[in-house]
Amino acid sequence: MLKLSYTPFALQFKHPFGLAYGTRTTTEVVFVRIECDGFVGYGEAALPPYLGETQTSVVEFLYKANTILKKYALPFLLEEIITAIDATAPNNNAAKACIDIALHDLLGKYVNKSVYSILNLEKPQPQNTSVTISIGDLNLIPEKLLELNDYHVLKIKLGNKNDRQIIECIRMHTDKPLVVDVNQGWTDKHVALEMIQWLHTQNVLFVEQPLPKDNYNDMVWLKERSPIATIADESMQRFSDMNEISDCFHGINLKLMKCTGLYEAVKIINYAKEKGLKINIGCMSESSCGIAAAAQLMQHADWIDLDGPLLVKNNPFGGINFTEGKLQLSNSTGTGATLADKNLEFIAL
Ligand code: MG
Repeated sequence: MLKLSYTPFALQFKHPFGLAYGTRTTTEVVFVRIECDGFVGYGEAALPPYLGETQTSVVEFLYKANTILKKYALPFLLEEIITAIDATAPNNNAAKACIDIALHDLLGKYVNKSVYSILNLEKPQPQNTSVTISIGDLNLIPEKLLELNDYHVLKIKLGNKNDRQIIECIRMHTDKPLVVDVNQGWTDKHVALEMIQWLHTQNVLFVEQPLPKDNYNDMVWLKERSPIATIADESMQRFSDMNEISDCFHGINLKLMKCTGLYEAVKIINYAKEKGLKINIGCMSESSCGIAAAAQLMQHADWIDLDGPLLVKNNPFGGINFTEGKLQLSNSTGTGATLADKNLEFIAL
């Protein structure tokens, strides 16, 4: 029987995380493990507040999912299990993702294969990941840049009144390529276009979610005029959103926590390729558990933004490393994530 257990955890940021809608110092997560015949798979649900899920809602969903998991003796029928769990309740995307990740990890370990190979994906090679530089006090920017010296692409959160000042300050200290995430922070399409045209002169590779998420008409207008790629984040959660957003953006920010996990992520990647959409593989603030799963998809992406573990100071998982700015997977089976903090106590359902 597939045995599910979980543990709630709070990831602590090295630096408070500044966004268009406020500042945070921690992110709540729930880690799960699914065990079968002595093999163990790990998964993670990362729960930034704007997603609307909490540790309580995840645990409630795990009880529902467990009624399905209990029916299976082995982890082989992933599509059937994941589809049945998805149907037990709407939403709960991160809760669904932690189970999906743990099941893929478990199956990989059970059959002695990596998850990318189970999913018929190309073997992930070490790749540059962008890393978010948190913006608070502009005077601290030189110090933060020094800390991120190994990384070749920097992600900047904009969407405030001092956007130009932030970029100008960064450009005084580095000419590294930037990616920009506006988090829906600009509301006027003309102002957005003007900003994007200026950002184009500042070596910015793409702009993520420049306008509010339901503003589809203005995003089509902006896509036609923007000299750099516009990327859907908040506008796109699951595979079912892909049709609607494919005319509105040049690409998508694919995150396991939004799309319910690896099973659906592969469907999204295939669809995006068919439509000529660019793919950024992104993450929430996550430990190496979630990132090792997302990294299975790396070879199929245009950009990688999997910096979660770099931003937290109490990551309880290992199994991936960041060398000279490149994210690298271990050669282990499953996702490769390993539990480093042996004090984590999992609660059985
Ligand atoms: Mg974003």
